[in-house]
Amino acid sequence: MADRTDDRSQTAARLRHLLSTEGEAIYANASTLNNRRAATYAATDTLEDRRATARAIKEDAIERLPELLETVREAVESNGGTVYLADDAADANRYVADVVVDSAAREPADDDTAVDAPSVVKSKSMTTEEIDLNDALEREGITVTETDLGEWVLQIADESPSHIVGPAMHLSRKEIADLLTEAFDPDERFETPEALTRFARDHLGERIREADVGITGANFVVAETGTIALVTNEGNARKCAVTPDTHVAIAGVEKLVPSISDLEPFVDLIAKSATGQSIAQYVTMLTPPTDSPTIDFDADEPIVPDSSDGKETGSARATGTTDRDFHLVLLDNGRMAMREDDQLRETLYCIRCGACSNSCVNFQSVGGHGFGGETYSGGIATGWEAGVHGQESAAEFNDLCTGCSRCVEACPVEIDIPWINTVVRDRHNRGADPAAADFLVDGLTPDAETGGLDLGKRFFGNVGTVARLASATAPVSNWLVGSTPVRAMLEQALGIDRRRDLPTFQRETLVDWFETRGGFAASKTRASEPGARHGDPKESKQRAAAGGPDREAILYPDVYTNFVDVDRGKAAVRTLEALGVPVRVPDLPESGRAPLSQGMVSTADRQASRLYAAVVEDLDAGRDLVVIEPSDLAAFHREYERLLPEASYETLAENSYEICEYVYGLVETGADAAVLQTGAGNEPIAYHSHCQQRTLGLEAPTTALLERCGYDPQTTSAECCGMAGSFGYKREFYEVSVDVGERVADEVGSAETVVASGTSCGDQLETLLERPVPHPIELLAPDD
Ligand code: SF4
Repeated sequence: MADRTDDRSQTAARLRHLLSTEGEAIYANASTLNNRRAATYAATDTLEDRRATARAIKEDAIERLPELLETVREAVESNGGTVYLADDAADANRYVADVVVDSAAREPADDDTAVDAPSVVKSKSMTTEEIDLNDALEREGITVTETDLGEWVLQIADESPSHIVGPAMHLSRKEIADLLTEAFDPDERFETPEALTRFARDHLGERIREADVGITGANFVVAETGTIALVTNEGNARKCAVTPDTHVAIAGVEKLVPSISDLEPFVDLIAKSATGQSIAQYVTMLTPPTDSPTIDFDADEPIVPDSSDGKETGSARATGTTDRDFHLVLLDNGRMAMREDDQLRETLYCIRCGACSNSCVNFQSVGGHGFGGETYSGGIATGWEAGVHGQESAAEFNDLCTGCSRCVEACPVEIDIPWINTVVRDRHNRGADPAAADFLVDGLTPDAETGGLDLGKRFFGNVGTVARLASATAPVSNWLVGSTPVRAMLEQALGIDRRRDLPTFQRETLVDWFETRGGFAASKTRASEPGARHGDPKESKQRAAAGGPDREAILYPDVYTNFVDVDRGKAAVRTLEALGVPVRVPDLPESGRAPLSQGMVSTADRQASRLYAAVVEDLDAGRDLVVIEPSDLAAFHREYERLLPEASYETLAENSYEICEYVYGLVETGADAAVLQTGAGNEPIAYHSHCQQRTLGLEAPTTALLERCGYDPQTTSAECCGMAGSFGYKREFYEVSVDVGERVADEVGSAETVVASGTSCGDQLETLLERPVPHPIELLAPDD
C-alpha cells in the first residue's frame, strides 16, 4: 500500500510540475487547434461521408495487409527501389544505418585529407521516434539533423516530443527564441518568429544540401504504385526526400493503402483534423526513385538557368546524379500482432493527426509529457504504446483518459479511442500481482474481477455498493467519511484526495421516495390530471410511434440520482407527470459505467446483462427508458454495443432517452411547455453539457428545450468539466481535474444561473463556484 501511495504522490508531483511549466503553452496550442478543427468540421457538409469512407479504406487495408505488403514490394522494386520489412526497432535501425554508411562511402569527401562523417537529414516522423533512430544512427557515428522546425528545436533542447503533430507544442515562442539564441549565439537575439524561421531555413538548408541521405516518414504509402504521400506544413520533407541522392522512407506497415484513389479522403481529412486547415501547405506525392537529377550545389554554373535576356539559356545545368537510391522501410514492431488482436486492431486505422490529443481536456492541461508513453501521446497513445512498446508503457498514463469520449467525434477515422483505453486498463488490471490488501475486500465487493486490482479502482468500480451502504447508514456515514481521520485513511488506502468534497448520501433514495408517494399508480393519476399535456418523444425522433401519445416512462435510478442527488430524480418525475407521462422508478441494477471507468470490463459486462434482463419486459411492452445521468445513457448507446448481444443492444439503445431529450420530444409533439417552470422571456443562463452527452449529439435538445421554456442558454466551449466521475477524486489527478474545471468555471462564473447535466459536472462547478449548479430539469420541473 505504501508503494501505491508513493506512486500516487509521484504522479501528482510530476503532473503538478507539468501544469506549472508546460501547461500554459500546451493549452493555448492544443485548444486553438481543437477549436479550428471543430470549426472546419462544422463547415464541411461531406464530413461524415468522408470519415466513413476513410474508415472503410483502413478496415479493408488492414484486413488485406499481407497482400498489400507483397503488392508494394513489387511496385517499389519495379520502380527501381528497395523494400525492407523490419521486424522491430533494432532491425529497422540496423538496416537504415547500413544504407547510410554505404551511401556516404560512395560520396567524395569534402577535401583530400578528411573523410566526412556520414550525415542524415530527417523530416518529422513519429515512427523514427518509436524506434529511436537518431540514437541508433549516432551510435554508428552518423550525424543526424532534424529539419522539421519543432523537431529541430527539440533536438537542440534534447527533449522528447509532447504532441504527435506539434512536437514542441509545450514550448512558448520566447522559450524557443531563448534556446536558439543560446545555442547559436547570433549577432542579434532572435526576437521574432520571422527571424527565427529565416535562420532555421538557412541553417537547415545547408545541412540538407550537405547530407548523404534524406530520411522521411510517410503519411500514406500506396501499395499499387509505391507512391509515398507526405502531408506537411513545412517544405522540409520534400527537400529531404529529393535533395540527397539517397532517400529512405520509414513507415509503419499500417500506412499502406491499396490505390492512389484511396489517398483522397485521407489527404483531405488529415489537414482538417490535425490543424483545421482545408488542405495542408505541402501535399507531396513521390514515386521514388524519381528520374529527376539531384542538384550539384558545388557546381560553378548557376542552379537556376540565367534567363536575364528573356531566353532559356540551357538545360539541366548544375546537375548532379540521376542515379538515385530509394529504400522503403516498412516497420512491423508489433503491428502485425495488433492486427490479430480484436481490441487493438482499430489502433492501426490511426492516421496520426493528433485531433484526439487536442480535444482531450487533460491533454490540454499536461500535454504529451504527462499524457503519453515512450513515444506516443494523447488518447490513442494507449493503443500504440501497448502495441509497440508493451502494456507497461501504456499503463503509466492510461488513467489520464477519463473516457469522456470527446476524441471519438474528433477522430477522422472514427476510432473508439475510449474503448481501447478501457481494454488496455482492464488488461493492466489483470496483469497485476494479487495484492496483499485483497483480503480486505474479498467477499465484500460484488465485482467479477480477478485479484490484484488496485484498491482505489476496486472502490470506485463498486461505487454502487458503496453508495447503497452509505445511504442506508446516512447521516452517520456522511459524518464519518467527513471526519479528518477517515479522510486521511481514505486518501492513504484508496487514493481519494482529502481536498475533494465527498457526496452527501441521502437516507431516502429516489426509489424509496417514489414508492412512498404511491408508486406507479399515483404517478398515473398525476399524469392524467387535467393540467397534464401529452406528447410523443418517439414521434419527434422520427422513430416508430408505437403506442401513440400514451407513453409510459421507466426513470432509470442511476447510482447518483438514487442515493445522492435525489432532487433531480424527483424533478424528472414531476416534469414527466406534468407532461402526461406516468412514470415507474424500479430499483434497477447498475449500468456498468463505474466499473468501465476503472477498466473492470468483466464486472461491467455482468452489470449490462443484468440491467438488460431487468428492463427488457418494460421495453417490450413499449415503455421508454429515461435516463438522467448522461454517462449511463452513453453506456447504453455506446459501450453496450460491445457488451450485449446485438439485438439486445439495439433494443436498449432505441428505447432509451436522455431526460431533456425526452422532454423536448414531448413538448415538440403536443405537450404544453407552459406547465413547466418557464423563464421570463430571454432569461440568460449558462449551461454546461456533459461530455458524453455531447458525443451522443444530445446537447442540442437541452438547449432547444431551455429556449422553448423561455431561457437563453449559453453553452460552454469546454469539452469536459475535468471531474469525470472518479477522476477528480483521485489524489494523483486532483490538480489536473481542478485545472480543467477552472476553465469551465471561468467561462460560466459571471452568469446568474448555471446548470449542468452531469453529476460530476455539477459537483465540480458547485465546488469551484461555491453555489448550487442544478440539473436543467430541476430548473424546469413544476413544483410538487
Ligand atoms: S486516433 Fe484518430 S484522432 Fe487520434 S491521432 Fe489517430 S486518427 Fe487522429
